[in-house]
Amino acid sequence: VAGVAVVAVTLVSVAVVHASSVTSPRTSHLVIALLALLLADSALVDIRTGAEAESVTFAEAMLAVALLLLPWSYVLPLAGLAVIVAHVLRGRSWLKTVFNASSFVIGSALAALVMQTSGPTTVSTISPSDVASIAAALVVFWAWNGAATATVVALAAGRRIRDVYAAGVVFRTSVGAANIAAGVAIVVMARWAPPALAVLPPILALLYAVYRGYLGASRDVNYWRQLETATKDLNQLDEEAVAQAALRHAKALFQAAWVELVLTDAGRSVTHRLGEQPSAGEPMMAETCAMAHLTSPDGVLGALRVGLGDTGKLSKREIQVLTTYAGTVSTTLVNARLHSAVQRQAARAAHEAAHDALTGLSSRGLLLTKTAAALDDAQLSGTTVALLLLDLDHFKEINDTLGHAAGDELLRNLANRLRNAVPAGATIARLGGDEFGVLLPGLSGGIAASIAAENLLSALTDPVTFEGMRLSIEGSMGVACYPEDGGSVEELLQRADIAMYQAKDERGHWRRYDPNRDASNLDRLALVAELHAAIERDELVTYFQPQIDLLTDTVVGYEALVRWQHPTRGLLAPSEFVAVAEQSGLVRQFAMRVLDRAVAECAQWHRTGSPLSVAVNLSARNLLDRQLPDDVHRVLARHGLPAENLVLEITETTMMSELDVVEDVLASLRRLGVELSVDDFGTGYSSLALLQRISVNEVKIDRSFVSGMLGSAGDFAIVRATIELAHGLGLRVVAEGVESGPLRDRLADLGCDLAQGFHLGMPAPAATVRTALATGDPVGNRSRGVPQPRRARLAVLPQVAE
Ligand code: C2E
Ligand code: MG
Ligand code: MG
Repeated sequence: VAGVAVVAVTLVSVAVVHASSVTSPRTSHLVIALLALLLADSALVDIRTGAEAESVTFAEAMLAVALLLLPWSYVLPLAGLAVIVAHVLRGRSWLKTVFNASSFVIGSALAALVMQTSGPTTVSTISPSDVASIAAALVVFWAWNGAATATVVALAAGRRIRDVYAAGVVFRTSVGAANIAAGVAIVVMARWAPPALAVLPPILALLYAVYRGYLGASRDVNYWRQLETATKDLNQLDEEAVAQAALRHAKALFQAAWVELVLTDAGRSVTHRLGEQPSAGEPMMAETCAMAHLTSPDGVLGALRVGLGDTGKLSKREIQVLTTYAGTVSTTLVNARLHSAVQRQAARAAHEAAHDALTGLSSRGLLLTKTAAALDDAQLSGTTVALLLLDLDHFKEINDTLGHAAGDELLRNLANRLRNAVPAGATIARLGGDEFGVLLPGLSGGIAASIAAENLLSALTDPVTFEGMRLSIEGSMGVACYPEDGGSVEELLQRADIAMYQAKDERGHWRRYDPNRDASNLDRLALVAELHAAIERDELVTYFQPQIDLLTDTVVGYEALVRWQHPTRGLLAPSEFVAVAEQSGLVRQFAMRVLDRAVAECAQWHRTGSPLSVAVNLSARNLLDRQLPDDVHRVLARHGLPAENLVLEITETTMMSELDVVEDVLASLRRLGVELSVDDFGTGYSSLALLQRISVNEVKIDRSFVSGMLGSAGDFAIVRATIELAHGLGLRVVAEGVESGPLRDRLADLGCDLAQGFHLGMPAPAATVRTALATGDPVGNRSRGVPQPRRARLAVLPQVAE
């Protein structure tokens, strides 16, 4: 439409020029008018408001000059030409150029029409009423221009014309008024005081310079003030908040249509945007934008883009401001990132401190803190809090045999099971290697704790398949409840621990704390600490109990039985401290000490003419120690005792474990030439087939069967069958706990090889045994005749497959 209009108007005006008889104007007038019209469309100062700009121009004043110098038929095409030239020089879009040219031409035509009402005039014939009509013409031009621009902007932006018009009305009115006044002044001067026109350009130029200077200065002040508030506002610790503040202030600072902040961090970039970027389909909104990089000493942080709509480029000064602003934004961003990095690290450190790295369960510290809080709550609400301590049985063996990676895997697996087995609100912690703690707050009573303990244990015992093997893990659990069992975190913890040891001792799966059994357990805790010193101070003493050959009725050897000569508690039996030694990491030193004493004593018997054997008990854990065979060899060598005089007693459960390490250790021991005996036979779950595979030399029938065999047909059957089967496998049979003569005789009838028991000889200190041997009374309490060497084996032993 605008294009058609500009063309039509130009054609019409050219036609009019030809048709009219107006004399062609002077060339100087043409040139001045063209310059004036060029000036008319040149923006002197651009005031940006968002995507639009208002320009201060001399349009109305210069139009007055042109209309004064030329007939209107010349002014119209010249005006179109001038606007096009001015726009092309400023690099405006062609659409905008065409529109503005058309608008200017149409406005000028309207103004010319108004002037024509008072008849054609030349400067020299202007009357005061003509001045009024010129002023009216300029007003019409001004009104047209404002309305046309507002309409097009409103249509392009989809806003209401009235709103767009109202937005710039004050500015346009003041600039227009000044222009119209200037135009009228030029006309008046040209008519009545032409020489005065000469001073007009310098005065205008001066005014213009002052105005620009003032405007620039006030804009600078405004910039610095805004920068200052922006800097304050930017000073935040959160990156997102910094970004939002940066956008807000950039938009205000540069009167931008939109601003965009692209932030890159570790290769990823995030774009924040404020204000709407025009889409490509809106031709009136040709894009101009300015950009500044955000940098830190470490590299590029991102970029800040400021969209100026079609309102032109940023001035040099504005670019400086943008750079300064980008610098400030960069600094605050770096600070915010550092701060969040520090915070993240602190949070990670706190989480790591509060959680176990392997299983992700809580740490001991966190469990205790939560327990304390739970106790406070329970005090107010009157509820029960339960603390459960769980210790895995034989976990160490798994670790030793399958390796730590497998152990770790298993722990993770178990941790997950535990997590799934506890009620909501519970806290599970890993307290140490294979020890776990569970806090159950807000329970209705102790029964709920029992149910939870059962659930946890059954979750635990489901076999785990690991690299094709099915492993079954069992655990012992101690339970202590607030308020019944303890009032503080420490008390609960200690009592749950005691209960757990009770559970372990009794092979029960879990135990609630029982104050009646507390005393002995507290003793046990103290013993752990003391045992270490006991080994060093040599408080362990070895007693010896004779083993009698039932055929010849002679002593063939002694079993070494350890005792602890405790400084305050007196002589302690193995039942009171052997388990402690096994659990305290002293198991090797402990066994070596007993072995050394026993072998030394046996060597001494040999030197004094009694070639007896000695039997030494080993703990299950000793057989997991690959160094054991070497240690045994060294002890034998040190005391010069032939290996076949040493019998090592192991328990069924150890053999049962079927672990490679146990088989290796047993094979090495056999290669040394020492004999192996299965102690307490019948109490475990082993089969005779296993005995054959493991290739032991001797079976010791447990006391519980032997002592009852005269009264119970069942026990008798077991003893008889065991003797027969063991002999069938070529093994020697020892009966334990022979407390009476009839028992001894019955065993001899059944073909039992050896017997041991209070009736045949009490365990006695080494010195007592030496004296007895020296005096020919090897049993210590009754005469049995001269000691005989241990009888030769009954049959060939099965070979170990190696
Ligand atoms: P054990 O190897 O079965 O030892 C036999 C236990 O039965 C000894 O108890 C012995 O005093 C007792 N005893 C012997 N004859 C009779 C009898 O006729 N009637 C009754 N009622 N008991 C009899 P002790 O010395 O208290 O040892 C208990 C257990 O402690 C031993 O059972 C053994 O398993 C363990 N033990 C002893 N010394 C050591 C050691 O040096 N290392 C390890 N790891 N364990 C040991
Ligand atoms: Mg024994
Ligand atoms: Mg035994």
